[in-house]
Amino acid sequence: MEILTALYVLATLGVIYYALATIGATYGVHRYWAHRQGKRRVWFEWVSLTAALFVGVYKPLGWIGIHRLHHKHADTELDPHSPKHQGALNVLLSRWNKPIPLSIIRDVAKNKRIKFFQRHGKKLILPILIISPFTILLGYFGVGILNYFGHLYGTPSNRWFINILAPFEGKHKEHHHGSL
Ligand SMILES: [Zn+2]
Ligand SMILES: [Zn+2]
Repeated sequence: MEILTALYVLATLGVIYYALATIGATYGVHRYWAHRQGKRRVWFEWVSLTAALFVGVYKPLGWIGIHRLHHKHADTELDPHSPKHQGALNVLLSRWNKPIPLSIIRDVAKNKRIKFFQRHGKKLILPILIISPFTILLGYFGVGILNYFGHLYGTPSNRWFINILAPFEGKHKEHHHGSL
């Protein structure tokens, strides 16, 4: 019985993480904000940026800027998280220090919801670190795994296991070619 209860709890936590990562990361900061995909909806902006906090994104402009730089310079020395140029550990642990030019985030930097989370994200994530550290940790490793295995051989690649921690992001090659 105890094993069943533990499995039930684990499955529930897994579903919660997957929902938060899908809304906050995949279709939030990634597709909606960085790539400006989807219809503009204020309610989704609040929901996606709140969900993003739960998977560790407390400075949305940094996330968006770095991701746009990545697409612009993928697999070159200017790519902020190219495994080939920045090293495995830096990419897996999301350690980078490339400056983000204002011109690359100007469109989203004006948005009121982005401004709010950019200003208050650091404070807002503190209670989440206490009540939901596992979603923040999984989100953190999910991005590292996506950035590393999605470009391991110096070119965008599809990897099914990326989907385990980064929902619906496994088809990374198609994503770079603009079809996802
Ligand atoms: Zn992208
Ligand atoms: Zn990529």
